[in-house]
Amino acid sequence: MNYQCCTRCVMDTTDPTITFDVQGVCNHCHQFEEVTRKRWFPNAEGSRLWAAHLEKIKAAGKGQEYDCIIGLSGGVDSSYLAIKAHEWGLRPLVMHVDAGWNSELAVANIEAIVKHCGYDLHTHVVDWEDMRDLHLAYLRAGVSNQDVAQDHAFFAGLYHFATKNGIKHILSGGNLATESIFPASWHGSAMDAINLKAIHKKYGERKLKNYQTISFFEYYFWYPFVKKMRVLRPLNFMPYDKEQALKELQETVGYKPYPRKHGESVFTKWFQNHYLPVKFNMDKRRPHLSSLIVSGQMTRAEALHKLDEPLYDAAELEIDVNYLCKKLRISRAEFDGFMKTKVHDYSDFANWDGYYNFARNTKRVVAKIIGRDIKISY
Ligand SMILES: [Zn+2]
Repeated sequence: MNYQCCTRCVMDTTDPTITFDVQGVCNHCHQFEEVTRKRWFPNAEGSRLWAAHLEKIKAAGKGQEYDCIIGLSGGVDSSYLAIKAHEWGLRPLVMHVDAGWNSELAVANIEAIVKHCGYDLHTHVVDWEDMRDLHLAYLRAGVSNQDVAQDHAFFAGLYHFATKNGIKHILSGGNLATESIFPASWHGSAMDAINLKAIHKKYGERKLKNYQTISFFEYYFWYPFVKKMRVLRPLNFMPYDKEQALKELQETVGYKPYPRKHGESVFTKWFQNHYLPVKFNMDKRRPHLSSLIVSGQMTRAEALHKLDEPLYDAAELEIDVNYLCKKLRISRAEFDGFMKTKVHDYSDFANWDGYYNFARNTKRVVAKIIGRDIKISY
């Protein structure tokens, strides 16, 4: 099958809702230029804005043990953010969520960062039996986002732990320089606990005992408006270049790079480099490389060259799949069966989209009445 590809980035019609203008430039490129770029400050204005944020964070944390919280996965973005926070004189509580898939390299990197910066590290270990049952439920469901169990555990752990410790500021390594483009049609939100519970109810085998979730109400109203928690993405206020960041991490803390994107989690690595492209024809490298193109960190020719590289080395895939089977305690035949089951969309199961649309419409009406925009998401 032939796919039409954007003439500026490398997004193509594997995103079923992509549109192109007469020059063949896609809606993602337009969205970046017309909307996203206004929220991205890799310049002097960014330094000024970030300095003001820093003052607020420090003021809010006065007299407290910590002034912010950082979720550290061991990936480049959050690792770089952690060493920058140290340079800015922040006192973060560093939290790591261990959902059972950490690679040894990720653990070594986290330890090196925490030691260098003198941080307190809180590791939240997710109940493995809960994780296992959720993973198997999602695999049986055949939905595209298999990372929900890990991602949701990470955010729920972070929010709950921040509130418990009276911390108002969450610093996130999320950034527009490397991840501004993502096709919404590819999968639902990992924050959607209604969807998670519905999928687990249908395909899980046991009750979840200790798995923490975060509700729509908590995420959109309780934490931001009642608890006054703010999520800040500092990397959007500086010229964040991933290659440079990696170099700096290597030089400062002896950080060791992962041979493949998302090498910090064996499951994510398999899910993104095998499950998604083979079962769903979704290659996550495309939105990632497109993000780098629009933010000026890569040329389109370089990105196309990268896409020519194989997603997985056959021998490495074999090793990883055997590991996944062993860890999930299932046979190879059962595992291979997951690649062939019927595909479902997340919206085939109960989800929070109705609440979300209601909240968005209400926000519009309220904004009209009070004459200014209000934020319902970060
Ligand atoms: Zn494009």
